[in-house]
Amino acid sequence: MSAKNTSFTQTPLLQVENLQTGFKIDGDFFNAVEGVSFEVKRKQIVGVVGESGCGKSVMSLSIMQLLPTGIGKIRGGEVKFEGENISKLSDKKMNNIRGKDISMIFQEPMTSLNPVFTIGYQIEEVILNHEKISKKEARLRSVSLLKSVGIPRADKIVDEYPHQLSGGMRQRVMIAMAIACQPKLLIADEPTTALDVTVQAQILDLLKGIQEANDMAIILITHDLGVVAEICDEVLVMYAGKIVEKATVDELFNNPKHPYTDLLMKAIPRMDEDVEVLATIDGLVPSVMNMPEVGCRFANRCPSAMPECLTVTPRLGEVAAHHEAACLLYDESWPEGTKPYREGASMA
Ligand code: SF4
Repeated sequence: MSAKNTSFTQTPLLQVENLQTGFKIDGDFFNAVEGVSFEVKRKQIVGVVGESGCGKSVMSLSIMQLLPTGIGKIRGGEVKFEGENISKLSDKKMNNIRGKDISMIFQEPMTSLNPVFTIGYQIEEVILNHEKISKKEARLRSVSLLKSVGIPRADKIVDEYPHQLSGGMRQRVMIAMAIACQPKLLIADEPTTALDVTVQAQILDLLKGIQEANDMAIILITHDLGVVAEICDEVLVMYAGKIVEKATVDELFNNPKHPYTDLLMKAIPRMDEDVEVLATIDGLVPSVMNMPEVGCRFANRCPSAMPECLTVTPRLGEVAAHHEAACLLYDESWPEGTKPYREGASMA
């Protein structure tokens, strides 16, 4: 594991406070993100982990205000960037922030790269949208950016089209576009999922190198806790639209508290163990239309579930230094003598 930035004293670059994001389905809104709060400090890498459908991507699209128009909506809470609430900014003001202060890369670059324009044109467009420089300067910067993300023959590739590159090279192009204006925050949504293992490792190394060189913060969204262990400082575990565990990476890996996190950890392939079949988590994440109104949303899949888990909604609370979890196993608010578990009880 790399050296971690675990300072809790910096002024936050991003503050997400009680975010509620809903989707309109058959005329009704259903929350896909429910009461999510966290901070990202300057130069910090925060991992957001959970299965598909846990709300990770909706949360990042909410920060960027890229929710599908007329369908997705921030229904409550605030997103503050450098202290300013950006969740209600006009499209024009948000366009000034996107690409310049906050950038985003996605799992599949072909959905973000335009197939009919050259790589160079698309990077230059990002630069010229935010900076008053000549086209010639923008082109020189594009070549230099492509070199910086490890693209060979950058002066030739700049005139090629996305379909002429491999998946790994396209992801490098996306990273070059995302860092073209030296953003303070990069949101990387499953940036390595579509790539083979060797290229995944190269892209993670590249992101870490750029983060250090540019003093940039990163929110790294992934379903893979192994990826989090590689480069993150802190981690948020999301389940069914809520944060269920939040800790520094070292603390989370040494001392996982939430049963969901524990199961995610058991699903990480390990080189030092001869395991033929990896653990899986039985059942599915509830859909946004079928979220239980009370109780723990993980109860129907949890190996440690108790009867109370169906009627009492767990709250995120401190379970150790720099470590919070939302699970009744650790809830200290039960009146004395009525706790549904013994002191010191832990996961099954
Ligand atoms: Fe499992 Fe209950 Fe904790 Fe939920 S609150 S994770 S069901 S033990």
